[in-house]
Amino acid sequence: MAITMPKILSCTVLECAYNVNSECHTMAITVGDGGHASCDTYYRASNKGGGDIVGGVGACKAHECSYNKSYECTAPGINVAHHSEHADCKTFSPKRR
Ligand code: SF4
Repeated sequence: MAITMPKILSCTVLECAYNVNSECHTMAITVGDGGHASCDTYYRASNKGGGDIVGGVGACKAHECSYNKSYECTAPGINVAHHSEHADCKTFSPKRR
């Protein structure tokens, strides 16, 4: 089955180097290090980075999410926001057991 890369619809983690005006400007993020749906690409730097693009979800290791199929994200798009001191995918939806 062909899959397409879900876009990051919004990200409110303004201090991230890739964030400009609540948009993510890296090519693709990775979500879910350690099974938690955090944005692993979150990065603090003195300068802004990324390009003239809207980021997508390149890979997702949060296999407990109902959108996760074979460690890929199948959501139509995701939203990212703070969770404590890091960034989380807020589209995460746990699988039913
Ligand atoms: S989605 Fe991740 S990499 Fe992109 S701006 Fe937000 S925290 Fe940064």
